[in-house]
Amino acid sequence: MPDLSDRHIFIIPVQDKFLLHAPLLKLSALVNRSAAGAIRAALASGAAAENADSRLQPLLDVLRQPPLLPPAPNGAEISPAFLGIVTTRACNSACVYCDFGAPGASGRAMDLQTAVAAVDWYARLLKQQEKELLEIHFFGGEPMTAPAVVETVVHRARLVAARERLTPYFEISTNGLCGPALLAFLGDYVNRVVLSFDGREDIQNLHRPLRGGRGSYPGVFAAAQYLSDSPAQLVIRCCVSQINVDIMEDTARWFCETFNPSLINFEIMQPVESAAAAGLYPPDPYEFAANFIKARRAAESFGIKTVYAADLSTEPVYTSCPVGSDTVIVSPDGRISSCYLLPEKWQEVGLDLALGEMRGRRELAINPAAVQNIRAMVTNKPRCEKCFCRWSCAGGCHVGNTYPGCSADYSDYCRQTRIISACSLLDELNLPEMADTLIDDREALPALACRESDRLMEWEV
Ligand code: SF4
Ligand code: SF4
Repeated sequence: MPDLSDRHIFIIPVQDKFLLHAPLLKLSALVNRSAAGAIRAALASGAAAENADSRLQPLLDVLRQPPLLPPAPNGAEISPAFLGIVTTRACNSACVYCDFGAPGASGRAMDLQTAVAAVDWYARLLKQQEKELLEIHFFGGEPMTAPAVVETVVHRARLVAARERLTPYFEISTNGLCGPALLAFLGDYVNRVVLSFDGREDIQNLHRPLRGGRGSYPGVFAAAQYLSDSPAQLVIRCCVSQINVDIMEDTARWFCETFNPSLINFEIMQPVESAAAAGLYPPDPYEFAANFIKARRAAESFGIKTVYAADLSTEPVYTSCPVGSDTVIVSPDGRISSCYLLPEKWQEVGLDLALGEMRGRRELAINPAAVQNIRAMVTNKPRCEKCFCRWSCAGGCHVGNTYPGCSADYSDYCRQTRIISACSLLDELNLPEMADTLIDDREALPALACRESDRLMEWEV
C-alpha cells in the first residue's frame, strides 16, 4: 500500500488561479495564490483552525481527513473486470496504424470449444464470487471475421447466464465491415458496439483503407447508420493523427448530426512504422487536448458525451486499462493474458502480462502468482507519483506509456492527459468558460502540462 501522508493533495496552476485537487478525499476547488499558500502553510504546520483564514476552514477540515485508497482486486483468486475474447488476429481492413498484429497475423480463429470453455469458466467464477454481471468484450484483428466465435460466445453466455441468474453484457470493437446479416446480429444481440470510424470520407479512407487500397468509408458509413437505429448502443471510436486533429470539433458535430451515437471516443494514433511510412503521426499533444475540449463542447450541444480514456474518473483507480483490474483476455491460440496485444509487444518493453493458458481446449489454467505480479506492477509507476492524474489516468497504457523502467519524464500522452483532466476538473466545478480560455492560452498550457510535481507540499509559493 502506498505511503501517502499528505502527498495525495495536488495543486495545479490554471492561468492566475490554482486547482486544489485531492481525489482520495473527493475534493476539488479553485483557489487563488494566497489561499493556496495559506492552505499549504496550515497543513505544514498543523496550525490550529483559528490561525488560518476562516473561509478556508471547510477545505482544511476535509484535507485533514485520512485519504481513502481505491479498492483493488484482492485475495488469491482472480476477479476479472470482464472476460475478453480475441476471436482472431485476422482483419479484412488495412488501417495504416494498426498495432494489434493484424497485418502479419495468422487467420486462425478461436476454436469454438475454447470459446465455450472460457464462458463456462467465467460464469462459474462469477457464481462462486457471488457477482451478477457476466461481461464479455470481443476484440480482434477484426472480431467479425470470425463470426461463429462471436455468435457461439453470445448464445452460450446467454444460456449460462439464464441458468446461473447472471446478467449478460456484451461489447465489441469492430470496423463494421461485416455485411448486413452480421450487423443485424450485432444490433440485436450486443449491448455496445464500438465502431472504428475516423470521420469524413477523405480521413477515413486515408487512415483506414481496405486491403488493396479501396476506401472503407461507404461500408463504415452504412454500418454507423444501421447501428444508429438498432437496439445496440453505438460508440464511435475516432482515431486522431496530425491530419485530422484540427477538425475534431467539426468531426464531432458531423457524427452527432449524421448518426445517433451514445458516446464518441477520441484517441490518438499510435506511432507505428506503417503509419509513419504513410506520412501519419500522432498529433501535437497541445493541439489534441485543445481540440478535444472543443469537440466535447460541440457534442454536448447535441446531448452526446465525448470521452478520452485517461480522463478524470468518477472514482480513484490504480489503473485505467484492463491490465491490473484482473481482466482475463483469451487469445485465439488459447493463451490467456491481461492485455489484448500480441505478447511480443509487451515483451519488447520488459513486461509479462501472461495469466495462464487453456488446458486441452476445455479448462482455463490461471497462474495465481501472475495475477499477484500484475496487481503489484500497476501500483508502482514512478512517473505518475507526483502527477495529479495518478488516481484517474493512473499511468494509461502500461505497454505504450508507463512500462517498468520508462523515463520519469512526462510523455506527449501525459501532457495531453494533464490538460484534458484539468479542463474536466474546471467543468466539474461548473467553470467551463475557464477551461475554454485555458485551452487557447499557449503560455498557461505548458506551465500546467509540464510541471514536474503537482504535490501541494512540494510547491514553492
Ligand atoms: S504521469 Fe502521465 S501516465 Fe502518469 S498519471 Fe500522469 S498523465 Fe497519466
Ligand atoms: S496495456 Fe495498453 S494495450 Fe494493453 S490493455 Fe492496457 S491500454 Fe490496452
